[in-house]
Order: sequence, then C-alpha cells, then structure tokens
Amino acid sequence: MTTDASNRPKLGKVFLVGAGPGDPELLTLKAYRVLQAAEVVLYDRLVSPEIMTLLPESATQVYVGKRRADHSVPQTDIGQLLVDYALKGKFTVRLKGGDPFIFGRGGEELEQLAAAEIPFEVIPGITAASGCAASAGIPLTHRDYSQSVRFITGHLQDGSINLDWEALRSPNQTLVFYMGLVGLTTIAATMISMGRSPDTPLAVIEKGTTPQEKIHISSLANVEDLLATTVISAPTLIIIGDVVKLHALLAKS
Ligand code: SAH
Repeated sequence: MTTDASNRPKLGKVFLVGAGPGDPELLTLKAYRVLQAAEVVLYDRLVSPEIMTLLPESATQVYVGKRRADHSVPQTDIGQLLVDYALKGKFTVRLKGGDPFIFGRGGEELEQLAAAEIPFEVIPGITAASGCAASAGIPLTHRDYSQSVRFITGHLQDGSINLDWEALRSPNQTLVFYMGLVGLTTIAATMISMGRSPDTPLAVIEKGTTPQEKIHISSLANVEDLLATTVISAPTLIIIGDVVKLHALLAKS
C-alpha cells in the first residue's frame, strides 16, 4: 500500500478507460500505457480477452460485467468499489468496451468518484459505431447520402422502445443503434410507418473488429426475413441509412 509522510494511504487515482470495440490494436496509446501500470482493473463483458492479456500479471482483475437484463454487479456498487480501491491507494482502472462516455454509464461512475473526492481521469476509446463502420466500409456520413449521424440506444430501461420517431424520418441521416437487435423488428416497422423508405438499407454488424466479425446487409422491409433466417449473436451494432450502400464498394479487401 502506498503511504505518505503521515502514514495514511495516499489516494489512488481511477482511470476510466475505453477499451474500443474489440480489436486490441484499436486501443489508444494512452490506454495501453495505463493498462500496463494498473494494480486493479474492473472490467466489463464487452472488453475483449485479447485486451485482458495486456494487463500485468500482478493486477487484480474484477469482473463487473453485465448482460442485457442481468446486472451482475449493481451500478452503485461498481462506483463504490472504485472509491474503495482508490482509498486503499490503488492505481485503479475501470475498463469499458468502446468509449466510456457513449452508452457506457461512465458519467454515473465519475459522479460517485467526484462526490468522494477521488482523483480520476477519462481515457476515450473508439466507440462501436466508429470501429464497426470502418471495418464494414460504411462511412457514417457522406456528402451524397448523409449529413448527420445519430447514436441511439435501442434498449430502454423498462424494456420498451420509445424514440423520437419523427426526428428519425429524414432520409439524409445515418442512424446507429446500439443494443438494438432485440427491438430491430419494431424499429424497422415503425420507421416505415413513419415514412422512411422500406428500401432504406441497413447493416447488422456482429462482433465488429474481432476475428468473429460478421456483416449482414438488409433493408428496413427485409429485416424480419433476415432475423428469421440468420443466427446473429451479440454484441451487434445496427447502421441504417443510404451510406450502407457503400459497403459493397468499400468493404475491406
Ligand atoms: N461504450 C460502448 C457501448 C456500450 S453499449 C461503445 O462506445 O461502443 C453495448 C452495445 O455496444 C452493444 O449492445 C452493441 O450494440 C455495441 N457494441 C459494442 N461492441 C461491439 C462490437 N464489437 N460489435 C458490434 N457492436 C458492439
């Protein structure tokens, strides 16, 4: 345990680190450096096993991951664990898939740290949308097709999907759904009923940037067929919009 002159443990710092979408080479250099110095690492289900191998053997690994609707460690307990390790003087890393500030609840954990006056730093990661889009050859914006991109969660706390459908009608925008597979049929049907063309292409990207990556191309009208005929496993990201047409040309060779 680190001690200062008064023999009290020195406060440890907490690093909230984005692990990116899976490919370990997509970690930032800063994240890599911090991982190698870690004494304690609290990590999620979405952090790839290859990234976990980069930790020093001496680091204590604490799994706090969750699946949909199965919260293995409640959110407030995760915040409290971070506070406790920092109070013990530990160099603590909170490692999350993608970017910690995009559907990562990073803000909530930092609020607990701030309230306990624990020093912290955020290291951004490549979010699933950027990683999957690059890997699939789907530019999220393109002057001919899309002037904006929205990151949307397809999963609400109470299990319902209650989005601003009116705002999603415009054809020249790209929609990226995180956690959207379960609600995809409803999302597609509602978008069509709100006036978005049934031919609007969409991509379902499974385990993007990992060796198990699969890209399924479909359209709003054909989503039900896709889901009925294909086994798709999590995590999956859904990109909807005309930019998906570019996949045929820009998919990596
Ligand atoms: N903070 C993360 C998102 C966490 S929410 C980020 O910035 O990427 C979890 C959702 O992210 C998953 O349900 C899925 O929609 C998406 N996701 C994360 N990694 C992914 C991957 N490798 N491939 C496809 N989708 C992924």
